[in-house]
Order: sequence, then C-alpha cells, then structure tokens
Amino acid sequence: MPDKDVLSPQTLQTIYRHAAETYPEECCGFVFADACVHQGQNIQDQLNQLDPEVYRRSAANGYTFAVADTLLLNRSLRGDNPARVIYHSHPDVGAYFSSEDVDKALFMGQPIHPVAYLVVDVREGQAHGAKLFEWSGEEFVCSREFPAPLDGRQ
Ligand SMILES: [Zn+2]
Repeated sequence: MPDKDVLSPQTLQTIYRHAAETYPEECCGFVFADACVHQGQNIQDQLNQLDPEVYRRSAANGYTFAVADTLLLNRSLRGDNPARVIYHSHPDVGAYFSSEDVDKALFMGQPIHPVAYLVVDVREGQAHGAKLFEWSGEEFVCSREFPAPLDGRQ
C-alpha cells in the first residue's frame, strides 16, 4: 500500500505535467516508495499499428508500458525502493478505473503487483485531479481523491 507521503503535492504536480504533455494520449508511469516519479513510455500506438485486431486501443484510450519500463517496475518490486503507485491518464473521459484497467491489474482474479493505481483526469490538455484505486481483497475501490492543481498551470 502506498506510503502516506508518496503522493505529495510535488509528486502529483510531476504526474499532472506528464499527463498534460502526452495529451491527447494517455501517459503512464509509476511512483517509488521514496516518492520519485518514473515517467514511462506508452507504446500502445505502436502495438495498435502493428496489430489493430489484437491491440484495438490506441494511445488515446489505452496504455502499455515499454519493455524497459516493465523491467524497471519488476526489478523495483524486488528491491528496497519498490514502486508503490502505477499511474496513467484518462484524456477527456474522467478518472475512473475502467474494466480495461481492472483486466490489466489482475491475473486470475488477483492483483499482479502490490501497488495502488492512480488515474489522472486530463481534459483539453489540463489535469483536473486524480483518483487512487486500491485492491480491497475483492475489487478495486477509490481510496483517495486529489483535487486539480491549485495554480491551474502545469
Ligand atoms: Zn485507464
């Protein structure tokens, strides 16, 4: 479960900026236990172009980490500064945990990683807040809500 201060205002600001930069595509990344943010690379568009039958979603409505990101994530989970939060953005649809997000987070009905998931609400290139989702033992529930950035700029 995320440490209390992992999602500090500064950390959120970094994530909001990432979400604004990649708009209208989804951004993705993770936050380590020491609150450092790793900005991942969303390769969903490459997958979609490679095989649109299998990878139906584009980067506008889906995300897949680059292999290097996945390796870093998995390595961190075995080390002393594990990833605590995986984040991605939802351009123009609001911050909710979609059935696609649930599928991505579970394997055989159990969470793949011991992390929480942050979904950023980004609209017209501006982050409007975020919601954190955690596994309750049965389902993902929204455990925290973060407001829009105070200064309105990213
Ligand atoms: Zn999503």
